[in-house]
Amino acid sequence: MQNGTVLKKSDALYIDSKDINLGDEEKIEIISGHFKKIMQTLGLDLSDDSLRDTPDRVAKMYVREIFAGLNPDNKPRVTRFENRYAYHQMLVEKNIPLYSTCEHHFVPIIGKAHIAYIPNGKVIGLSKINRIVRYCSQRPQVQERLTQEIANELKYCLQTENIAVMIDAAHLCVAARGIKDVGTSTVTAAYCGIFLEPSKNAEFRSYLHS
Ligand SMILES: [Zn+2]
Repeated sequence: MQNGTVLKKSDALYIDSKDINLGDEEKIEIISGHFKKIMQTLGLDLSDDSLRDTPDRVAKMYVREIFAGLNPDNKPRVTRFENRYAYHQMLVEKNIPLYSTCEHHFVPIIGKAHIAYIPNGKVIGLSKINRIVRYCSQRPQVQERLTQEIANELKYCLQTENIAVMIDAAHLCVAARGIKDVGTSTVTAAYCGIFLEPSKNAEFRSYLHS
């Protein structure tokens, strides 16, 4: 198992279950069976053409897509390159699409992540930042922990503490049920290293408005 953000039993979410060691195909089969029971309990007709394959479809989507980040094998392979241009200023990648799932209601969290770092000796391809955001998002999450997991993963990949992560996201559990407050978004941030200094922090946030 690689270092960085890996799933540990000490992270309360993950997992004290025998099922952690199952392969993807076994997980899909088990989840499909359980989801079929949920649908039947709700009174849905599983013999209907349109619904027949839904349990299998949902199980594949859970394991291979929206919860793929629970499997450390899906961690993005990140190659570090020498910082050949000796660029030591702030690099900001903003408006990274973010799709995650609220662990309390299992409905989507949809938003954007804004990331900044100041290169140390190494840099990584820009698209790897998007992949790290996606990997951490593909788990049942609360936004606060997601923000920190992305920051920790970037610290590990970039070998620097000088990382800033901001997430601005809407939670469908707030918009589509309960209070049904459609206009609300939630902002969380992880400022680390030099981004705790007011001037660097202000510089980062100024780019978000430009
Ligand atoms: Zn929720």
